[in-house]
Amino acid sequence: MDKQQDFVLRTIEERGIKFVRLWFTDVVGTLKSVAIAPAEVEGAFVEGLGFDGSAIEGFTRSYESDLLSLPDPGTFQVLPWRGEIDPTARMFCDLTTPDGQPAAADPRHVLKRTLEKAKDLGFTFYTHPEVEFYLMKSTTIVDGSPVPVDDAGYFDNVPGGTAHDFRRRAVTMLEDIGISVEYSHHEGGPGQNEIDLRYADALTTADNIMTFRTVVKEVAIEQGVHATFMPKPMSGQPGSGMHTHMSLFEGDTNAFYEAGAQYQLSKVGRQFIAGLLTHAQEITAVTNQFVNSYKRIWGGDEAPSFVTWGHNNRSALIRVPMYKPHKGQSSRVEYRGIDSACNPYLAFSLMLAAGLKGIEEGYELPPEAENNVWSLSDAERRALGYEPLPSNLDHAVQYMEQSELVAETLGSQVYDYFMLNKRQEWYDYRAQVTPYELRTNLTAL
Ligand code: GLN
Ligand code: MG
Ligand code: MG
Ligand code: MG
Repeated sequence: MDKQQDFVLRTIEERGIKFVRLWFTDVVGTLKSVAIAPAEVEGAFVEGLGFDGSAIEGFTRSYESDLLSLPDPGTFQVLPWRGEIDPTARMFCDLTTPDGQPAAADPRHVLKRTLEKAKDLGFTFYTHPEVEFYLMKSTTIVDGSPVPVDDAGYFDNVPGGTAHDFRRRAVTMLEDIGISVEYSHHEGGPGQNEIDLRYADALTTADNIMTFRTVVKEVAIEQGVHATFMPKPMSGQPGSGMHTHMSLFEGDTNAFYEAGAQYQLSKVGRQFIAGLLTHAQEITAVTNQFVNSYKRIWGGDEAPSFVTWGHNNRSALIRVPMYKPHKGQSSRVEYRGIDSACNPYLAFSLMLAAGLKGIEEGYELPPEAENNVWSLSDAERRALGYEPLPSNLDHAVQYMEQSELVAETLGSQVYDYFMLNKRQEWYDYRAQVTPYELRTNLTAL
């Protein structure tokens, strides 16, 4: 037993933990959980806990189905929503094959491998996600739409409102489980909220996002409402993005920071952005993985539709936020394309890989977009070289299929399964007759 494992075993004893949940994530980003008795934890540390990988989305083919989950003791936390009676804890797991090799389809492993690559180049990767989501009264659909809990907007203070109470409860619970929150506020849509997690290394933030979704769902159930991370739950209202601020550190130094440079952004920072821009269309199937994601991207309301960057430009896909001297070397890059329903391990892997590619290949950063990209005409955008993001999931998968960067970063098993799964989703969707068609065609045609 190493020190961290010892600490976990001692804490289980001292706090009288009754169940320990082992958590991992499937390829499409669904959290999986198996509860074990405290007496089993020591064994799980040593030899892992076996399970049938073929029963999990995208994990294994059935003839090589045995997988082991090995709990990561550094992620041990008591679950606050389970209460003091029969307390329950959780640990995230790494997945291996029976002979101890990392499981090819484990998204957490894909991210670890990509972080290792950054490390070989001398970098640690930090992320800071701003997670948007909606609170609905229930899952009931009225006149073709879910019903949000309020009618408030951006930064509104709603006295006695559900969302206010909700955020206080959710933020407290997140802090109790070791996740620091930087800001929380009402977002632009009715019932829409945002909670921003403090920046941390990308593996921690990816784990934190998985926990975050669970906490938000739990608090919603407790308060009798429904929380959704669906990218665009209502037409005509803003979608839920997950803007992610990124930076690379070399030791204690922010590699994106250069005193006196334009926007205090170093050459490494500029190349990182150039990498993201060059590969944005290829990574979008993963950062925006549902049919519904493209309703957000093409539905207006501050979701980016074109591959551009800008300084404080909210119509751009990538924004370089205003430099704040009091925050020290806070230079960072905000990727605004990604949505709240992605698999954070895979999405962060691809965002990092795209940025690193820009650094390795010394990509040149194109001029920034100075104007509101949406208000330009198609011809103006073409003349400026602003390319659109994919139009829909099918289009995004076509870009992904052509991408060496995505294939290499995800590894063939995740890459192949992901495209298979997303093509099926597209076929299912394509076969639907929608309320829109009925409304516009049934009487007119
Ligand atoms: N909801 C918007 C999106 O889809 C973002 C709004 C904002 O944070 N300014 O990305
Ligand atoms: Mg924000
Ligand atoms: Mg926001
Ligand atoms: Mg933002």
